[in-house]
Amino acid sequence: MSVSRLSRRAMRDVDINVSFEFFPPKNDKMEQTLWNSIERLAPLGPSFVSVTYGAGGSTRQRTHETVSRICKETDLLPAAHLTCVDASREEVDEVVREYWQAGVRHFVALRGDPKGGVGTRYVPNPDGYQNAAELVAGLKAFADFEITVAAYPERHPESPDFATDIDMLKRKVDNGATRAITQFCFDNDVFEAYVERVRKAGIYIPIVPGIAPIHNFKSLSGFASKCGTHIPDWLSKRFQGLENDPGTEELVAAAVGSEQVLDLVERGFNDFHFYTMNRADLVYAICHMLGLRADDGNGDDAESASAEAA
Ligand code: FAD
Repeated sequence: MSVSRLSRRAMRDVDINVSFEFFPPKNDKMEQTLWNSIERLAPLGPSFVSVTYGAGGSTRQRTHETVSRICKETDLLPAAHLTCVDASREEVDEVVREYWQAGVRHFVALRGDPKGGVGTRYVPNPDGYQNAAELVAGLKAFADFEITVAAYPERHPESPDFATDIDMLKRKVDNGATRAITQFCFDNDVFEAYVERVRKAGIYIPIVPGIAPIHNFKSLSGFASKCGTHIPDWLSKRFQGLENDPGTEELVAAAVGSEQVLDLVERGFNDFHFYTMNRADLVYAICHMLGLRADDGNGDDAESASAEAA
């Protein structure tokens, strides 16, 4: 089916839900960029916005500050990413208590990347939650939180096979997770095949595609290889020759991202989670192509929010 037919169909018939992921800023300038992006994207009415937890739990304080500010200053529903890497159960439970007091009721529960970042060896803390499934159980024992977990259409790099990988997802669901967001993946056939495998394993929670807008193809490719995400040849060809042409690269990225989500809509996916990298423009364009408009339906809210942010 042609992209324009996909686009027409997506905009007419389908109820689309989006969520946005941000990372906690390191300094005042990054904080300003983050809040400009939140203000620009908020009028699109995301189901929730999530804030990541740095590798090795390194952003505990900053993640908490960002989530708390979202709670206090916006109408958005926040989800706090939480990992169990390099922390005892008591330490993790203390973080959970702080979030509870701040009014947070939704976690993205993860094992976490080691301090050295993606691709370095994971060593569980002997006194800690050993994996995300144990963390989900710990959260549920604390309170009836909404819990989202991670899923891997191309398998987690440490996983020996799909059966082991999906078994871990099933353990997370059995312990109380009600949604999974996937690692980013550029091949929609792979997404679809993965969801079929998951359903065959008796897992029926929503599997939400994680969408990574391509701000810089070279750096995204490097990160993808560490995460076990395959970069298809057709995608490399789209960006070939644009290494020193960020303006055109951004235009191509908007086209590629829109094409991917519209094709996923055609395949029956209605929910999308965007890895924003704290930047709004590409995500906003792709959401616009999905038919999303600002709160009042005519775009005025989005326009005034972006004018305020400027
Ligand atoms: P788990 O569900 O515990 O395990 C993931 C997979 O690893 C399993 O399915 C299994 O296949 C394999 N595995 C784990 N242990 C074993 C074992 N002992 N033997 C065999 N196989 C095993 N990281 C951060 O640090 N901070 C974040 O904020 C963050 N946010 C993320 C958000 C999303 C949507 C996604 C997809 C990932 C995110 N990550 C984040 C990355 C994540 O922490 C890493 O992918 C981590 O390596 C695994 O976390 P998990 O929760 O999937 O782990």
